[in-house]
Amino acid sequence: ARLANQIAAGEVVERPASVVKELVENSIDAGATRIHIDIERGGHKLIRIRDDGKGIIKDELTLALSRHATSKLKSLDDLECIASLGFRGEALASISSVSRLTLSSKPAEQETAWQAFAEGRDMAVQVQPTAHPDGTTIEVKDLFFNTPARRKFLRTEKTEFSHIDELVKRIALSRFDVAITLTHNQKVIRQYRASSKEQGVKRVAQVAGKVFEQQATYIESGAEGLMLYAWVLPVGCSSSAQYTYVNGRMMRDKLILHAIRQAFEEVIGEQDVPGFVVYLEIDPRQVDVNVHPAKHEVRFHQARLVHDFIVQAIKQTVTSQTD
Ligand code: ADP
Ligand code: MG
Repeated sequence: ARLANQIAAGEVVERPASVVKELVENSIDAGATRIHIDIERGGHKLIRIRDDGKGIIKDELTLALSRHATSKLKSLDDLECIASLGFRGEALASISSVSRLTLSSKPAEQETAWQAFAEGRDMAVQVQPTAHPDGTTIEVKDLFFNTPARRKFLRTEKTEFSHIDELVKRIALSRFDVAITLTHNQKVIRQYRASSKEQGVKRVAQVAGKVFEQQATYIESGAEGLMLYAWVLPVGCSSSAQYTYVNGRMMRDKLILHAIRQAFEEVIGEQDVPGFVVYLEIDPRQVDVNVHPAKHEVRFHQARLVHDFIVQAIKQTVTSQTD
């Protein structure tokens, strides 16, 4: 089991930011409205995620740390229509196989909080009572302490933290309604307050820059089961913040980026594309999200249709901005 977990760890756990990604996605899946992310030494030393989500009952703590134990896939149908962010059931197992992991949790309906501890080498998980408010805290210490080859690939504290910071921004733009705090070496670096979708531009401005609140055009466009909403900066804006989402997942999908670039090009020619935050909503059955293990890319069943829809929507906006 240990070897299998460490192999899986190679896929999931590339660097501290990938640990943060998996843990924060779990918190979001658990319905958290507040997430605290504490990092020490770029995540080499400590990654701690606290949430106010539904928690894990005592009897399932050990299970949560074992491989392919997911509570999120109930049937094959789910595979085609994945609603939750995580679904492979291997993140916690993989992370704990290359770190010292403490999982503390208290579901609202349970009197006491319990804590499970797992340390890389032996997967024997110990469970004991602890003090914890409703929700879950996961502490990952000494990442890659038992895999020197991987540890060697870690960059400086500053670089690893900047990857985490960027990741947290992308997540913050995927869920305006979740409050997120990020600290590094006990200093608050980001504090994103929850906001409604209507007030979304506030979150966008907090994450991607004030210029979005001052100058971006907001668009909403729908056709043929597709829905796009976006904030687009006018040409010439210095911001290079570019974020794209599909059904709430952050993506760097070639097709989407290509469509956006083409829209700009058709209106303004070959100039630099300014910043944008673009959300595409599509019937989940029209898209495969599993083509890339890190899930940054998707495959659209009707690629041409999606591409042209995005071009049209963005083009209209750019045209109106340049009028
Ligand atoms: P997956 O997310 O793919 O199901 P993980 O290894 O990431 O697999 O997590 C295993 C299980 O642990 C989840 O299915 C979930 O039941 C539970 N879990 C993990 N993190 C949390 C959390 N923050 N709050 C509640 N439950 C959690
Ligand atoms: Mg998960």
